[in-house]
Amino acid sequence: MSENSNTAPTPIIQVENLYKCYWVGRVPFPALNGVHLNMQRGEFSVIAGRSGSGKSTLLNIVGGLELADRGSVRVCDKDFLQRTKDQRALFRLEHIGFVFQAYNLVRVLTARENVAFVCQLRGKHKGECYGIADHWLAEVGLGELGHRRPDQLSGGQQQRVAVARALAMNPEIVLADEPTANLDTATGRALIALMRELNQQYGTTFMISSHDPDVIESASRVIHLADGRVVDGEEPAEPQLPPDTACRVRPPSLARRLVRALGGHRQD
Ligand code: ADP
Ligand code: MG
Repeated sequence: MSENSNTAPTPIIQVENLYKCYWVGRVPFPALNGVHLNMQRGEFSVIAGRSGSGKSTLLNIVGGLELADRGSVRVCDKDFLQRTKDQRALFRLEHIGFVFQAYNLVRVLTARENVAFVCQLRGKHKGECYGIADHWLAEVGLGELGHRRPDQLSGGQQQRVAVARALAMNPEIVLADEPTANLDTATGRALIALMRELNQQYGTTFMISSHDPDVIESASRVIHLADGRVVDGEEPAEPQLPPDTACRVRPPSLARRLVRALGGHRQD
């Protein structure tokens, strides 16, 4: 990272002129229309916007779960889009934790096993992973409930397990997509307070998508998305393409779709 007394630190997330269009057959669904944003280490930022504004698409691209059509994404100063699917998966495992709206826990595993699993994927010993799982379950207030499976936990408790799992390998970034959407108001508030506490204690960068007013209020910065563009909260960059261009780009050819499905990257 280029960092000295005269220059600002390199943002941990750098998104420039990001475009994404989904095609269902030949019908286009524009999702991102030239998004530009930077996020500094340790931020607790919320991506706000109505349903369909492009929040999940943005988080998925930043997390390397999906590829953009155009634009650039640098995460931890690495160009994410130029990597293969496997390289992106490895990068994610090392640098990024995910929290999803529907918790996405493995139903047949206990809370402890759900958290330890991520650690085992990194090749660590089972005993060490269970120790790490116990630490993080205690951090999210579930120290006594590690032996329960997801169906034996409330929604709020399941989401806490998901937060413990996201943080288990000390990632630099946690991406949380509508983490309170399935929770009642009080449980959602408690979850956000917990995430904020962890952000302050560990310095982990949080990028949270939400339209929940409590989540928005808790943020150190709110970035508003509308129709796939940042409309407030970030210095707008000069778009390289005119607005509403996402789907004017031709639909991906069969060859490009195959390359994408096989995990390669594509240059438009
Ligand atoms: P948000 O998370 O803000 O609700 P999304 O990123 O899910 O928004 O979606 C942005 C736009 O892209 C919406 O118009 C949505 O219908 C469209 N979209 C998202 N995913 C797909 C998909 N897999 N196929 C077709 N259209 C999609
Ligand atoms: Mg969404």
